[in-house]
Amino acid sequence: MRAAPTDVRPVRVVVRPEITAFVALGANLGDAAQALRDAFAALAGVPGVRLVKASSLYRTAPIESNGPDYINAVAEIATTLTAPELLMALQAIEHGAGRERPYRNAPRTLDLDLLLYGNASIDSATLTVPHPRMWERAFVLVPLHEIAPGLVTTDMRKAVSEQAIQRV
Ligand code: ATP
Ligand code: CA
Ligand code: CA
Repeated sequence: MRAAPTDVRPVRVVVRPEITAFVALGANLGDAAQALRDAFAALAGVPGVRLVKASSLYRTAPIESNGPDYINAVAEIATTLTAPELLMALQAIEHGAGRERPYRNAPRTLDLDLLLYGNASIDSATLTVPHPRMWERAFVLVPLHEIAPGLVTTDMRKAVSEQAIQRV
């Protein structure tokens, strides 16, 4: 007769709920439009991330920065990752696109900012959500309004209406 196993414990499967999050994409070096298309694909390929909506691509002039025009867009995702895990995934995609940070607001091959993570408010050393500067930026609010009109009021859009932005 075989001895009863002593080390068998019940397996606990933790199913995390999906959170709706919004990510801003931007680039102004090299083929910026292609960099954003690649970034949408890379986002969709992250385990635990589902790409729900992709905005159109938009062209904007650099703000507090120099270099070529930016191409910007916003993605809606559904994710089982925590916000810090998601930030790490975004930074890995930026890194894969050759992102360097020589100085603040430097031209970049790819920038991925976490705008909103469900209705979470986060203020850690490495992550602030909602993104603290998103409400000042037409290149965020215009594509965000395209895919999630309920999140951006007319007054919010009016506040950035001086900033030139055109759909590519
Ligand atoms: P801005 O944040 O004004 O758009 P930036 O995108 O050029 O500027 P980065 O150099 O890409 O700034 O990021 C600097 C740091 O910001 C990152 O290392 C990251 O830890 C931190 N950070 C804080 N909150 C966020 C967020 N919501 N999304 C992305 N990065 C964030
Ligand atoms: Ca940014
Ligand atoms: Ca960033």
